[in-house]
Amino acid sequence: MNLDRFSLKGKVAVVTGANTGLGQGVAIAMAEAGADIVGVGRSDMSETEAAVKAQGVRFLPVLADLLSIEPIDRILKEALDAFGKIDILVNNAGIIRREDAIDYSVEDWDDILNTNLRTLFFLSQAAAKQFRKQNTPGKIINIASMLSYQGGIRVPAYTASKSGVLGLTRALANEWAKFGINVNGIAPGYMVTNNTKALRDDPQRSAAILDRIPAGKWGEPADIGGAAVFLASAAADYVHGFTLAVDGGWLAR
Ligand code: NAD
Repeated sequence: MNLDRFSLKGKVAVVTGANTGLGQGVAIAMAEAGADIVGVGRSDMSETEAAVKAQGVRFLPVLADLLSIEPIDRILKEALDAFGKIDILVNNAGIIRREDAIDYSVEDWDDILNTNLRTLFFLSQAAAKQFRKQNTPGKIINIASMLSYQGGIRVPAYTASKSGVLGLTRALANEWAKFGINVNGIAPGYMVTNNTKALRDDPQRSAAILDRIPAGKWGEPADIGGAAVFLASAAADYVHGFTLAVDGGWLAR
């Protein structure tokens, strides 16, 4: 097989939440595959910027708070002003807050659904409109979760949002496949990032989780790079609406 089909050379990838964790892992992997990166986030992205530029590609930081959809037009404008087009959107930014369902607050519910689902949808819509305007194919990759499949404990809003991400990935694929836009997801397992710090700091939860992972270890941000590059590449042109688990075998148990 011609491995050029896996290359992202000459592509422009917008990655949300690129400063740390899985977003940083995806940005670096896509840079290694040849893509220029637009990193979108609310915090300093200099660490990601250095790692991306070390691959000989360009990096544009766009500071934006994705709690609301207000910055979406500006994100697209800054990306287009710098690179003239976009080819790939990775909806990675997401938050989690833990509390018993019985005590869960409206504020936490709204913040999580707004960040993880509402902004993800409207950013995807803006990217799809741009792909149509450019008359090019496009790739959208949504970061889902094990809680797209399972209920979780003390994270009702997160589970609702990530279950929504899985369904929305299918819904958008159904409507946009005909435009040459691939909408797919990646469901990471239990990975070593800020998102799971509370779990890893709890010896009992940490041991119980580790015991259930067939691979016998937590995942690292770099572990989802291969799946992200594949789904963003021409090699995945006929893959639509599927969420690929990168979970050390968690779902297979
Ligand atoms: P993380 O907390 O390190 O990263 C979250 C990222 O989202 C950060 O870059 C953060 O700045 C960004 N973000 C959050 N709210 C934002 C806002 N309002 N505006 C702009 N950016 C915002 O954790 P992570 O594990 O790297 O999380 C990345 C994604 O992966 C999330 O969607 C998370 O739900 C998902 N995920 C993580 C795991 C895991 O085990 N770590 C498992 C499944 C899914």
